[in-house]
Amino acid sequence: MKKILITGAAGFLGSHLCDRFIAEGYYVIGMDNLITGDLRNIEHLFPLASFEFHHHDVSTFVHLPGTLDYILHFASPASPIDYLKIPIETLKVGSLGTLNLLGLAMDKKATILVASTSEVYGDPLVHPQNEEYYGNVSPVGPRGVYDEAKRFMEAITMAYHRHHGLDTRIVRIFNTYGSRMRLNDGRVVPAFMGQALRGEDLTVFGDGSQTRSFTYIDDQVEGIYRLLMSDYVEPVNIGNPDETTIKEFAEEIIKLTGTDQKIIYRPLPKDDPLQRQPDITRAKKVLGWEPKVKRAEGLKKVYGYFKSLSPEELQKKEH
Ligand code: NAD
Ligand code: UDP
Repeated sequence: MKKILITGAAGFLGSHLCDRFIAEGYYVIGMDNLITGDLRNIEHLFPLASFEFHHHDVSTFVHLPGTLDYILHFASPASPIDYLKIPIETLKVGSLGTLNLLGLAMDKKATILVASTSEVYGDPLVHPQNEEYYGNVSPVGPRGVYDEAKRFMEAITMAYHRHHGLDTRIVRIFNTYGSRMRLNDGRVVPAFMGQALRGEDLTVFGDGSQTRSFTYIDDQVEGIYRLLMSDYVEPVNIGNPDETTIKEFAEEIIKLTGTDQKIIYRPLPKDDPLQRQPDITRAKKVLGWEPKVKRAEGLKKVYGYFKSLSPEELQKKEH
């Protein structure tokens, strides 16, 4: 049985990755310090003989007994309100956390895949973004704590590959949504759905002309799985190129939820990227991957999930 360590296992992406690797017949070790995650996302795995959980901060030394074949490093706050609230922890997990896991991978001769992000492109001047683009990031702006930690993560991962011959992968994840996102994590999908469900107006930041391209969780997990199984070490964008403005997106959610909420406008946060769309030529060529789930279909599923939450859960506000 192959063994895989998944950091950030109690979070949104990490918990879905645990499910996928369990389904593929792996022994899964989940690790998380629960700073933004929730054990309820993985409690269904606790009874399984092929799953174990370690409550641990990966920014401190990581030790595991026995063999290990793969590491997926997904631990990191990922929502702007989270990483603005805990900036130092965000910098540490992207830098020290990555360093610790690269060391563990060396020790175990394991293959490691690190979760990078479209944020390494910052507020991009090239559109759509391909992997050759170096990005436009302010190191000292508020989002720098996340963006620069992830850029460092990529740099040190490539250094371990080039200098030590470690088997590495880098995925650049574009905005992904699905079940188990925290309703109050401030990201736009849970924010708008929570507002619609509570009968509140939807808060669009800026004039809503900024764009994003949303990827459904199942497509994202498939892309990550294929990348890990490939032998491709350069970064790969995984995202759905179907781009929308945030204003159109809010209108789409109002229509989907059948509510008669209005849109209200709030100031655009500093350094909020004005456009974002992945160029997925590389993922198509190297992994034979492209997204399958259309936004309307994915949003319907995730709305079903948010609707099933308890009234107490729904009242937890995001701002
Ligand atoms: P999330 O907040 O739901 O999950 C992150 C998990 O990491 C949480 O369970 C948290 O408790 C854990 N964690 C944070 N710091 C830790 C530490 N020091 N030690 C151990 N555990 C720690 O976020 P997510 O959306 O699931 O994101 C997961 C990963 O994917 C992150 O690395 C993020 O940067 C990356 N990513 C996500 C998206 C997206 O759209 N969801 C986009 C780009 C990149
Ligand atoms: N956004 C918004 N209203 C909200 C939350 C977010 O208009 O209540 C906007 C935000 O300013 C950004 C986009 O939606 O332009 C996506 O935000 P999110 O935090 O989900 O992700 P990121 O900015 O990291 O892409």
